[in-house]
Amino acid sequence: MIKIDNLIKVYDTGSIQVEALKKINLDIDKGEFVAIMGPSGSGKSTFMNILGCLDRPSGGKYRLDGEKIEELNDVQLAAIRNKKIGFVFQSFNLLPRMSALKNVELPMMYAGISPKIRAERAIAALERVGLGDRMHHKSNELSGGQRQRVAIARSLVNDPAIILADEPTGNLDTKSGNEIMGIFQELNEEGSTVILVTHEADIAAYGKRIVSFRDGEIVEDRLVEQRTIISLNTRV
Ligand code: ADP
Ligand code: MG
Repeated sequence: MIKIDNLIKVYDTGSIQVEALKKINLDIDKGEFVAIMGPSGSGKSTFMNILGCLDRPSGGKYRLDGEKIEELNDVQLAAIRNKKIGFVFQSFNLLPRMSALKNVELPMMYAGISPKIRAERAIAALERVGLGDRMHHKSNELSGGQRQRVAIARSLVNDPAIILADEPTGNLDTKSGNEIMGIFQELNEEGSTVILVTHEADIAAYGKRIVSFRDGEIVEDRLVEQRTIISLNTRV
């Protein structure tokens, strides 16, 4: 699904040039659940922004479902992004005085989707993340974990094949963080490809594969040992 060859990103800020990504090679198959780890400044967000077609590489190749991403113009890039990618960020990016439902509907409003379909899709997405009973609450009346669930619901409305999340649990306590990871796990089990950035090992362990970045390079790429599943026939 994703094939990346010798991907380079250089930020040119006039006086200095920052080599944020140095010849990254990575393939990701449909249905994978990949956690990207690495210290601050190692290029994780730069990489995610390129994966999500929000930014362009300075060099190298990026194939997404066979499409030559680096050769597309801005309009084509935006079309791929809207069709295939759902984004979740650390800061939930919700409008505080607007209801959960309206927050999820907003991007569809900009996309010119009719009110009826907008509402249907938003309600379905909120139900999918377990917030069916909270959709009329304003986002500033929700807990951090609930706000992130609204943001996840918003990322799901176009039914994206790939969900990208950059430090989605970074602003959450451990319990809410684990709940959010449970949602990503479910989405992955339902067939979505999930790629998320974290600097916490416990969070990364939800992934099936962990890719570690350092100084703009991949220093480790390994499969996570699947945790033993113990089936409980009786409840304690
Ligand atoms: P991470 O997400 O792993 O913390 P980033 O991808 O944000 O790392 O940053 C990688 C490197 O690129 C850092 O040295 C950072 O300062 C630099 N960088 C990131 N974004 C920009 C930008 N827009 N302009 C210039 N330098 C940037
Ligand atoms: Mg970052």
